[in-house]
This record gives sequence, C-alpha cells and structure tokens, in this order.
Amino acid sequence: MEDQQLLRYSRQIMLPELDVAGQQKLQEATVLIIGMGGLGCPVAMYLAAAGVGHLIIADDDTVELTNLQRQIAHSQADIGKSKVTSASDTLKGLNPEVQLSLIDERLQGENLERNVKIATVVVDATDNFKTRFSINQACLKFRVPLVSGAAIRMEGQVAVFDSNQQDSPCYQCLYREGDEEEASCSQNGVMAPVVGIVGSVQAMETLKIITGIGEPLVGRLLLLDARSMQWRELKLPRDPHCSACGKIDGYLLLLYPLTRLSSPRVLNRAATTSLTH
Ligand SMILES: [Zn+2]
Repeated sequence: MEDQQLLRYSRQIMLPELDVAGQQKLQEATVLIIGMGGLGCPVAMYLAAAGVGHLIIADDDTVELTNLQRQIAHSQADIGKSKVTSASDTLKGLNPEVQLSLIDERLQGENLERNVKIATVVVDATDNFKTRFSINQACLKFRVPLVSGAAIRMEGQVAVFDSNQQDSPCYQCLYREGDEEEASCSQNGVMAPVVGIVGSVQAMETLKIITGIGEPLVGRLLLLDARSMQWRELKLPRDPHCSACGKIDGYLLLLYPLTRLSSPRVLNRAATTSLTH
C-alpha cells in the first residue's frame, strides 16, 4: 500500500482489528450494490470512502426532484441523469481510487447472476419484492453473502444472509413470494435520515464480512422504530421448508421443528409488511 493510501485510511488502519491487512482485504473486495436510491447512496458512499476496491452499482432509474430529499449521492444538477452516472460522480469525488462498474439497467437473469458471482458481498438496496427474491436466489446459488436493508416511514430493518454458514436463513425464510403487501416510499413516505441509518448499518455489515471483523448480523433481524429510536432484534432461524434454501436433509429438519412455531417471518409480517426505499 502506498503512503497516500496509508494516510487516507489511517483512521481505520489504526484499529488493531483492521490494521493494514484488513485494509488490504477491502481493497481487494468487489461489492455489488443493487439500487442507488435512499439506501444504496449511503452504502456506496461509505464503502467508497472506506476503500472497498471495486464497486458495481446497478439502477435503471434517473434522478428526480423527489429523490433529493434522501438519496444523498445525487444533487440538484443531476436531475434527469441516470442514477448510476450521478452516483458514480459523487463516489469518484469521494475516492478516485475506487474502481466503479456501472449497470444502467434493471439487474436480472443472467446479468444478475454474472455480477453476483464475482462479488465478495451483495448489498440489496432495492424497492420491490420481485427483485429481492431474485437477488436472494442468485446469492444462494453462488454462496455470496447478502446484506439486506429496507426503510419506510420512520421504520427500518436490516439482516445479513450468508449461505456459507450452515444455519443461516435466507431472505425467503423471512418473506415468501406472493404473501407480502408491497408498499413504497412514494405512497407511504419516508423520513430522510431513516434510509441513512439503515444504509450505514448495511455498509458496516459489508465491511465486517469482507474483513472478518466482529459478528455479522446473520440469523438476526434488526428492526428500527425511529419514533422512539428503539432497535429490536429478532432471532431469524433458517426455515427448513423454505422454497429457496430449504432443500436440506433430515438432519436439519430435526434441529428446527420447534423454532418454526414462533417463526419470525410470521411475527414480522405484522411489523414490516413493507420493504422499500
Ligand atoms: Zn430460506
């Protein structure tokens, strides 16, 4: 690592848990961030600033005036530009050393798989269930850790799914296709800093996974109520009957029959029917 890099990242490198070796891991990592909205903006900005070597950012939208209240990588002059172009200008300004790959389309099918496959971590910052399920499937297929976040009104949630860990649930253990009520910020509104809080937690979890620091949020779901500024943590066991990750043998079925009675998926459907930015 060159002197300028050591200086740039010095406040991180001085943390004994991270050190130069951890910074090196960040530099060698590729993170795929899907969605450059309220969540994706702070995620991308923190990861670029912290020195993740390669960011792949995907979004098929253009910047609109209503985005600027919370999507902090975009500015007034970016209205009408594609979100990935606008975000990439901001990220280059923050840290010109970061390599950026821009995907100016809805990431799906083979294109989604190709990009998930090369990622060290995938960050889901999207606003609809259909995309979230496809991202989950691709992450399961290639065993890439998935950092999932959502925010609406004054509520947020974050969880990490990592199929490299045998007892990790997947996104679909929490939500099943077709049984959620979709809600969006355009219909329900969202307080600006709520997406920043959730996005920052997603960025932190991503850095932890890459460097192996601490304990990632696997098997736990964090729920934020910004009105009272309280976090709730729910244990999130793997669902042996999950249609995405549940193709497992009797061994795991033996471990889980009782935990399913108090399925957090069921508990959560009441608390968080919405998952958007
Ligand atoms: Zn599952």
